[in-house]
Amino acid sequence: MKKLLILGASGSIGTQTLDVIITYKLYDLVAITVGNRFDIVDEIIAKFPTVKYVTIKEKNVADKYQEKYPNLQFYSGNEGLLKIIEDSKADVVVNALTGFAGLLPSIKSLELNKILCLANKESLVVGGEFIKKLLKEGKGKLYPIDSEHVAIAKCLYNKNINDVDKILITASGGPFFDLDKNEFKNIKVEDALKHPNWSMGKKITIDSSTMMNKAFEIVEAYYLFDVPPNKIFPLVDRKSHVHSLVKFNNGEYRLQVGPSDMRIPIYYALTFGKCDNNDKFDDVEINTFDNYEFKEMNYEKFPLINYGKFIIEKKGNMGAIINAANEECVYEFLNFNINYVDIKNIIDKIVDVYPYIKNPTLDEIIKTDHEVRNLVHELI
Ligand code: NAD
Ligand code: MG
Repeated sequence: MKKLLILGASGSIGTQTLDVIITYKLYDLVAITVGNRFDIVDEIIAKFPTVKYVTIKEKNVADKYQEKYPNLQFYSGNEGLLKIIEDSKADVVVNALTGFAGLLPSIKSLELNKILCLANKESLVVGGEFIKKLLKEGKGKLYPIDSEHVAIAKCLYNKNINDVDKILITASGGPFFDLDKNEFKNIKVEDALKHPNWSMGKKITIDSSTMMNKAFEIVEAYYLFDVPPNKIFPLVDRKSHVHSLVKFNNGEYRLQVGPSDMRIPIYYALTFGKCDNNDKFDDVEINTFDNYEFKEMNYEKFPLINYGKFIIEKKGNMGAIINAANEECVYEFLNFNINYVDIKNIIDKIVDVYPYIKNPTLDEIIKTDHEVRNLVHELI
């Protein structure tokens, strides 16, 4: 059996990945990383005796675990996220980290010729050009986990990318789609954490409410499928039944429909795009899907979505600028330090003032990330 490493095993995607590999007996899980939810480590080690390598964010916690499990190898910090990719000799890496922290592990996995199953869309937002270059050089392989992108990949099955007229990435519209824009200033953390259709980590849930998640998914689609930005559009499906659509030049549409269950796209990535499978997920009655009712994205209400195409157009360090500003603003909002509308205002301000670099090195991307975070705090 192939060996698997899960980066971010304690998160929403991480735990669902554990569920998929146990249900469908897909891999030998050899390595995991966790952030602050380290209490889950004992449970995972007990359930998966094949685990030999573990990274825990905090060094003192990792040291305690090392004493407890002398036969396993523990690492900590950001270096630990890279070291484990090398030492575990995993064939496949699931990157289910949140935010910028996912970038270097994605790059490292490809450099070491691993198959990368990518949930961490921020890797492509901040470092899409670096990842594209590695893949072009034949380093590693990349499979998406994001539900919309798996849907698009399924729609493209046996099709030529040159025959694509449009990629329509569906969006649920989030909890505020029908809210008057004047009310946005009163949005509380608990309101923004109520996603209508999906249960996910906090950061992506806030991004889904502001449409920054959809902006990032536009960038993700651009890098995954190599289609120009003028062929990629968001489309709102309030029920999240249709996970995305592709329109072809001959007028034909394909769409992928199914339950809102992330285990389905995770399974797709872990089996490298196996489309014709007998492994069953929950059955859904056809009438559950009743009518498809699509709505146009409201760009005026959700202007952050425009940053998707802006990042593609600018490239350079623009993805890193916008991602870092967004990440910090989202965490500050979750910590009750700024208002909901400040998220957009601060991001706009930073995009205005932070120096744009057209052809950055990876070090400059890292520096951008670091400096923009500091700048956000200065502005606050
Ligand atoms: P989450 O917050 O539930 O989990 C994130 C994981 O990463 C945790 O294990 C956490 O401990 C770890 N982590 C975060 N920062 C870290 C750091 N600096 N160092 C070490 N570990 C760190 O998030 P999630 O919802 O599972 O999302 C993970 C990624 O998948 C995100 O990029 C998100 O956009 C993407 N994604 C999630 C979903 C979903 O349904 N949850 C769907 C599509 C895409
Ligand atoms: Mg998605």
